[in-house]
Amino acid sequence: MASQDPRTKFSNADFPQQEQQAPGLQQQLDPKPDCGETSYKGYGRLKDYKMLVTGGDSAIGRAAAIAYAKEGADVAINYLPDEEEDAKEVKEIIENEGRHAVLISGDLRNEQFNYDLVEEAYHKLGGLDNVTLVAGHQQYKNSIKDFDTASFSETFETNVYPIFWTVQKALDYLQAGATITLTSSVQGYNPSPILHDYAATKAAIISLTKSLSEELGAKGIRVNCVAPGPFWSPLQISGGQPQSKIPTFGQKEVLGRAGQPVELSGVYVHLASEESSYTTGQVYGVTGGTQLD
Ligand code: NAD
Ligand code: MG
Repeated sequence: MASQDPRTKFSNADFPQQEQQAPGLQQQLDPKPDCGETSYKGYGRLKDYKMLVTGGDSAIGRAAAIAYAKEGADVAINYLPDEEEDAKEVKEIIENEGRHAVLISGDLRNEQFNYDLVEEAYHKLGGLDNVTLVAGHQQYKNSIKDFDTASFSETFETNVYPIFWTVQKALDYLQAGATITLTSSVQGYNPSPILHDYAATKAAIISLTKSLSEELGAKGIRVNCVAPGPFWSPLQISGGQPQSKIPTFGQKEVLGRAGQPVELSGVYVHLASEESSYTTGQVYGVTGGTQLD
């Protein structure tokens, strides 16, 4: 048989216990997530597209950025200054595909930075066909009583406000045929009591996918969203989950293991490409089995 068993396509062994300070570095993650560096094959589905990916240095955003380049796109990635080392690796991978890579570090909680980011990406890429927003902040808390306004705000300022700011600015440049891809989570449907703030931002992103798609569809711009289940990434081991949950992370899913970021690549590519020309306002679940409802 040519097809592969999804349960054993990637390891389902326990992950080693490990902790980093947020935002966490992919370079220090053990094992390294598979972001398609060698495993993803492109077929020219985004030939000469110009893409902007936030959170493009590591894990899910990195997988999207690499897949876009392997499909023939030029890619600008945004990340935090502390993540420069991860970002440089992604630049090299994109350039090895013969594509143009633009690195733009900066904090998306800063409103003006969002406008500057979109403008710089547009000018350095020489156009803009897609904005893929992957950056996110997740810090678990044992109880609602452990939140303070600053931590609650940080989650909304990172996960929700940049959608408004980047989309507003991108509309100066995006033309009919362009796409916007947001990143929610199963948490947007099934909120966990240790992630009150995060889950609420991910529900907001689902709502924005729908309302933005209604407004922008009239301009020929499609807006869709990816909702991942548990994926192996720096976010999880840098306060996204309690340490006790790291070793068996993802094992409760129907498929019995955590996802690897490359398993999202095809969905991000599909939503940005002509293949999905009749798809807008949709949320694509890639969850290992958990239902989105
Ligand atoms: P990750 O740590 O690799 O990615 C998160 C990225 O967000 C970081 O690389 C960082 O560059 C960026 N970021 C965080 N704060 C920022 C800020 N203030 N300014 C600019 N950039 C900032 O982890 P990941 O798991 O790949 O997460 C990517 C996205 O996927 C997030 O939105 C996350 O909520 C979502 N997600 C992840 C999972 C999972 O299990 N890993 C599940 C569902 C959804
Ligand atoms: Mg990172």
